[in-house]
Amino acid sequence: MNMSEPEQFIAEELRGEMRYDVPMCKHTSWRAGGTVQRMYQPADLDDLLAFMRQLPADEPLVAVGLGSNLLVRDGGLRGTVLLLHGALSGLCMEEDGRVYAEAGVPGAKLARFAALHNLRGAEFFAGIPGTVGGMLAMNAGCYGSEIWQKVLRVQTVNRRGELHLRTPDQYEIGYRSVKRIWDLGFRSLEGTSQADSAKSKIQDPKSSEEFFVAAWLKFEQGDGAAARQEIRELLSKRSASQPLNLPNAGSVFRNPPGEHAARLIQQCGLKGRCIGGAQVSEKHANFIVNTGGATAADIENLINEVRETVLRQTGIELHPEVRIVGELEVGSGKSEVGEVSPTEARSAVPFSTEARSADPLASQDKTR
Ligand SMILES: Cc1cc2nc3c(=O)[nH]c(=O)nc-3n(C[C@H](O)[C@H](O)[C@H](O)COP(=O)(O)OP(=O)(O)OC[C@H]3O[C@@H](n4cnc5c(N)ncnc54)[C@H](O)[C@@H]3O)c2cc1C
Repeated sequence: MNMSEPEQFIAEELRGEMRYDVPMCKHTSWRAGGTVQRMYQPADLDDLLAFMRQLPADEPLVAVGLGSNLLVRDGGLRGTVLLLHGALSGLCMEEDGRVYAEAGVPGAKLARFAALHNLRGAEFFAGIPGTVGGMLAMNAGCYGSEIWQKVLRVQTVNRRGELHLRTPDQYEIGYRSVKRIWDLGFRSLEGTSQADSAKSKIQDPKSSEEFFVAAWLKFEQGDGAAARQEIRELLSKRSASQPLNLPNAGSVFRNPPGEHAARLIQQCGLKGRCIGGAQVSEKHANFIVNTGGATAADIENLINEVRETVLRQTGIELHPEVRIVGELEVGSGKSEVGEVSPTEARSAVPFSTEARSADPLASQDKTR
């Protein structure tokens, strides 16, 4: 990686904290992965806007909340991580009863806050160890609820430091998926004969990139004590069914339509399967745990092996819910962001074909 720093990064008016060569294992729940060149944690929203305004146009930028759905490859991440957890922490009730929550607020805090204000419908956030920003990006949810069902509007910032208010109808919102409708328009034009002329009229998706900074959420009035009781029950259900004693990133794969990824993985005899320090959890087959010293490659290889095996044995293709970013090797210059198909993954990462272990007796959790 080229570690020379663009001059703009030392702008004196910034009040936040800039760090260099930061190990992402400290900022991801898998406790694995490489370093990022730069990490900026803004002091507050104004400081974030100032930071964005001086950001070089070509600087890769990845927003990170609690890193609970993120795998950073061992070769590290080029560019800058914008660390919003511990930064944008505003949380308040507005006069009309809506809850204003900034992107860095953890789900558990949001759930407790709503219960304390006698609101119902926010309990499910308690079990999701992410931030509001990360939950908006993922449309996080569980037990039949998803964050976007509660959203009235969101505030975003673009790379020029401009704020926008957006409403849910400006996004295509699906199961663990949130796409801006104007990006979909851009993509559908690619490859058409008019694409080049059309592209010149439409903004480049990178330059129009936006990050969530806050959301206004609506919940029903209700009994706060009942909400707190529901939170307690929900958390104990989770600790009974999820391997919370070991670093993990929650469910690795999305559930295929009408199916449960965990059931398919278990059916294929993959529970307990290990590569290096990464293991398909014995407690919940859709979780991969770091049993100690797992590299990001161990985890990614195991993800690929699970995908391959499930596809071969059942004909069903699993799609990762976790986001995989970064380079495979230090200085490789090969950078991947987002979901990788099994074929791409095979050519990029050494693929293990060792025998699988089986645990046909273990039970199936279907809470998510
Ligand atoms: C034990 C455990 C249980 C879990 N249970 C659930 C569950 O029940 N339901 C569920 O949906 N998920 C669950 N997860 C996964 C995870 O908590 C969620 O996906 C959560 O929304 C991620 O939030 P985060 O702040 O950690 O995001 P990160 O992991 O930091 O980032 C995830 C993605 O969101 C992007 N992002 C982050 N912040 C922003 C922002 N402000 N603007 C734009 N993009 C942003 C990142 O670039 C990245 O692509 C679980 C994870 C764990 C470890």
